[in-house]
Amino acid sequence: MEACTEADSSEIWPIHFQPKSDELLSSWVMRLAIAYSMNYLTFIQTIAASAYPAVTNFRTDWDCFAPRQALHYLSRVTTTPFQSIERATLLQQAEASVLSPYWFLSASAIQYCPLCLSEDQYPYFRREWRFAFITCCETHESFLADSCPQCGTSISCKQSRKEQENGDVYLALRYCHRCQSDLGNKQTTHLPSISELEFHQHLRHAIRQGGVDLPAGYRVASHRYFAGIQTVTHRLTIGKSGQVLQQALLSNIESNKLSQVEAPIVSCQINRLNLNQRRVILHLLWKLIQTWPATGAKCANSAKGYDKLLFREEQRLNIELCRIFLIDESDDTEHFV
Ligand SMILES: [Zn+2]
Ligand SMILES: [Zn+2]
Repeated sequence: MEACTEADSSEIWPIHFQPKSDELLSSWVMRLAIAYSMNYLTFIQTIAASAYPAVTNFRTDWDCFAPRQALHYLSRVTTTPFQSIERATLLQQAEASVLSPYWFLSASAIQYCPLCLSEDQYPYFRREWRFAFITCCETHESFLADSCPQCGTSISCKQSRKEQENGDVYLALRYCHRCQSDLGNKQTTHLPSISELEFHQHLRHAIRQGGVDLPAGYRVASHRYFAGIQTVTHRLTIGKSGQVLQQALLSNIESNKLSQVEAPIVSCQINRLNLNQRRVILHLLWKLIQTWPATGAKCANSAKGYDKLLFREEQRLNIELCRIFLIDESDDTEHFV
């Protein structure tokens, strides 16, 4: 862990504040940009030019790919400990060994909790809102949203702007960047089922505790766990077998709420699905994990009659999960791509 970057007092920006402990880097950067009446891209280009003038080409998704020189520069000019800034990113800290970019939503379409935004003194976007496997707010136990309730546009905190000339710059992230509707509208919140909340608790626990107890009694290290559910998620969303597995599993689900949700598109990565589609995939995933390793029997029973193709798909999936979850720890790295 690197120490705080010492600031020369002449370098400190006149307006500066630190990120919240659970804030996404781009949210904090956007809040600073708005305070200086700049858009996100111009602002990070200005930072990059000051932090490392020799480099002119860089990726703009700083949540995932922020240059370290730029983070050190931000640390100095905002008097923020470097660790606090690093913690706001997605790939430069402990979680990076658990989560792969597979699970990160595109920076141009992330989620938000209307209740969190409505209660924030200074509205900001949480890191967790970019995780594809998170669809519920931990604080409010309600669903997140992923589009503007008024105009339907995808939400990105990087496109936020000051509401009007005299608008409060510190409230900007609460409003839709396209139509300026209030995203903190409480009427847009919906309640998840107990099962959905349980799965979220299970996933958050896996990230924080370094390991997870599967219902069947196996203890699995978190990085193995996420690699395993990535494999299942990939099977459910990509290729011909995805549709077969989805249909078989959906036919075995009692939830009336879920049956009203649109079926996920097959052959689309989970981080490109909308919130309702991800909700269906996560529900199927949770059902599989809860009964694992008996997935084969579960699916075979749910299908209308015995389906040879389906049974083969399930068996293959089960073998892959055994390999990922239960393989010897000394042979660790080859299963992480
Ligand atoms: Zn919330
Ligand atoms: Zn809008």
